[in-house]
Amino acid sequence: SKREGFATIPDVSWDDIGALKSVREELQTAIVEPIKQPELYAAVGISAPTGVLLWGPPGCGKTLLAKAVAAESKANFIAIKGPELLNKFVGESEAAVRRVFMRARSSVPCVIFFDELDALVPRRDDAGSESSARVVNTLLTELDGLSERQGIYVIAATNRPEIIDEAMLRPGRLETPLFVDLPGPDERVEILRALLRNKPIENIPEIAEVARKCNGYSGADLGALLRQAGQHAIRRRVTRLELQDFEYAATMIEGSVGKEAMQRF
Ligand code: ATP
Repeated sequence: SKREGFATIPDVSWDDIGALKSVREELQTAIVEPIKQPELYAAVGISAPTGVLLWGPPGCGKTLLAKAVAAESKANFIAIKGPELLNKFVGESEAAVRRVFMRARSSVPCVIFFDELDALVPRRDDAGSESSARVVNTLLTELDGLSERQGIYVIAATNRPEIIDEAMLRPGRLETPLFVDLPGPDERVEILRALLRNKPIENIPEIAEVARKCNGYSGADLGALLRQAGQHAIRRRVTRLELQDFEYAATMIEGSVGKEAMQRF
């Protein structure tokens, strides 16, 4: 399903995402509702935003959120990593950007997800390169050409919002910035629950204790923790994970988002 030119509806629901309640609600109002009930927006007489920017530390659910938005609104999903579109040949990167929107237009309703947006549209003054200015201008033109009536919505993600060209963030473009934060202790419990949903080990009683030990862990780190704990249980020849499996796993995994990295946010 990753073939070029092939857009599909992802298999991720809101229930697969732990914590991030207010971000989910914002996305529900900003994108899911307008796709599912365009008449509501028409009745109020306002237009829905066509773009949002998810920003925050790595591994905390930005990609997952974007997929859930598409799935919950039964829209097609096109995922692009910013650097993928960059090409050293003159004009090729802009053509690649335009092709993404062409694909979207042929599969509406559609959510386009630009991951690592900063690589694609760095501030034009900083980068100083003519080619990156052309890419920024092309993406701006495409964003300005969208209206919610066309059924194309853009979700962009970045770990480094400060280096994105500011023009991208103006009204009518990626006008809604949503912060996707590193989870705290209670949120880690919710994420572990979401990751264990529909699994045989769904209801381990030690989950809150596990979550408390995982300071600095992202959602991605918690996923890695579960895999390590599962392997440890298998080595012990048991199928029911216990606290000792998680304690072992926690010694193997270091929270990937250190204090230093978090100071940026
Ligand atoms: P990056 O900035 O590195 O692209 P990201 O913010 O897009 O990271 P995701 O790719 O969404 O992060 O998360 C990676 C994996 O971590 C997910 O596939 C999921 O298994 C787990 N994960 C992260 N956050 C959550 C969450 N809030 N709830 C459930 N699982 C999560």
